[in-house]
Amino acid sequence: MWIGGNWVEAESGKTYPVYNPATELEVAQVPLGGKADVDKAVAAARKALPKWSTKSQAERSQLVLKLATLLRESAKEIGELDTLEHGTPAKRAVFLAADTPGWFEWAAYSAKSLMGHTLPASPETLIYLQREPVGVVAIITPWNLPLLMIFQKLGPALALGNTCVIKPPSINSLTALKLAEIIEKLELPPGTVNVITGPGGTVGEALAAHHDVDMVAFTGSSETGKAIMSLASGTVKRLQLELGGKNPAIILDDADVNAAANAMAKQQTNNSGQICGSPGRFYVHEKVYDEFLEKFTVAMKKFVMGDPLDPKTELGPLVSAQHRDRVEGYIQSAIDEGAKVILGGKRPTTPPMNKGYYVLPTIITGITPKMKVAREEIFGPVACFMQPFKSDEEVIALANDNVYGLTSWVWTTDMARGMRFANQIQAGTVGLGQGRGGGGPEFPWGGFKESGIGKEGSLYGMLEFTNLKRIAVDLVTPKKSV
Ligand code: NAD
Repeated sequence: MWIGGNWVEAESGKTYPVYNPATELEVAQVPLGGKADVDKAVAAARKALPKWSTKSQAERSQLVLKLATLLRESAKEIGELDTLEHGTPAKRAVFLAADTPGWFEWAAYSAKSLMGHTLPASPETLIYLQREPVGVVAIITPWNLPLLMIFQKLGPALALGNTCVIKPPSINSLTALKLAEIIEKLELPPGTVNVITGPGGTVGEALAAHHDVDMVAFTGSSETGKAIMSLASGTVKRLQLELGGKNPAIILDDADVNAAANAMAKQQTNNSGQICGSPGRFYVHEKVYDEFLEKFTVAMKKFVMGDPLDPKTELGPLVSAQHRDRVEGYIQSAIDEGAKVILGGKRPTTPPMNKGYYVLPTIITGITPKMKVAREEIFGPVACFMQPFKSDEEVIALANDNVYGLTSWVWTTDMARGMRFANQIQAGTVGLGQGRGGGGPEFPWGGFKESGIGKEGSLYGMLEFTNLKRIAVDLVTPKKSV
């Protein structure tokens, strides 16, 4: 682990294995961190804070920009690690490793443009507002996009003068340790960035509850987000929570069915469906239901599933045996509750996919609102088709009838009708057609309801990593009292 500018073993002296999800073989052992390691890392981050936060913005931004360059230079190596420990198809893994350092560039430049304000008070008083780093930030991330999830938080946190303790997912922490190797080259004040590996139940909980952590920036399931809220409440920490979703994809009767079917199938299988913003519930108007389902099925069958190291592979395995079992459990629950699996629903049997944690692209139809697969996030290549709907009012109510509110799509060729939907759907993002509102650091991303608190990306996301201070200056020189 990387703590206080040094490579260290866990205090426990123990390690645990990381597996290749495509072969089920062990690829590495990583340190089994615990509470004692959290204490060391938080103390190191606290010690580094005055040195890092008082550097000029120009100097901090320059170092953050250099980090982006170094990461890009290592994109091939990082991409290979991502394929090995996560199963990301090789081509996409290298693309992601080269593309996502853009988060650091964007944070470095936008930190320079965050200026203070003055407020009109009275002729005798000047009030000005100043932004300061929040302090020691714990960054706790999920396994589904192991690097991007860290970069989205680390870029703004660092550029704005915070110090960080990163807890990557326990399943695939190798890319985060590689990130620490790259950060080592920057010669930041020791302890500015720390990486500790280990389970959420110990390392994650110790960070979320720690009295000397000022903020938790977390991406993961809503269940863990709630646990973190409760743990963090002891010291009233700042929270940025990017949580789960059960995202409605609405296909209206005037939609371009062909375009919608192809685009939605791609979204459904992106990263083998392990994306928070994947479609979770399909609502298709009764007039175009059959046509959409037929075209969507054809599109879902086209993706090349295989060894993630093969450049032709578009669809890799799921991340772990445990997660595959969870996805299969959802498929079985749908069958048990009376829905119908019309595509996939099982593991592939042809080599090399007879090993590894693969699940075939799956379509389930006939889902009713109370079924488990209508309400809970599956996080796999499984498309859930709700029963066809008849009217706009009906489908808006159905789409909003869920605890999540992350993203959504409305497919229509009538933009005024689409915008009426956009006004009424309870979600952080509404895509009218193809887009999900765009990806990348300049766009805000975040959920409503149980999908989270706060934003990532854009200046809104940057501001999460600052404290706003009001300073009131008395302009009348006071007479010294005797
Ligand atoms: P998870 O909640 O199981 O784990 C996320 C992180 O939290 C891991 O590092 C884990 O070790 C840690 N953790 C687990 N229990 C903890 C606890 N009690 N206290 C502190 N930390 C703890 O999530 P996951 O399975 O790794 O990721 C999948 C989830 O992430 C899905 O729900 C998905 O929707 C969500 N996600 C959301 C977004 C978004 O932007 N909204 C993006 C990606 C993933």
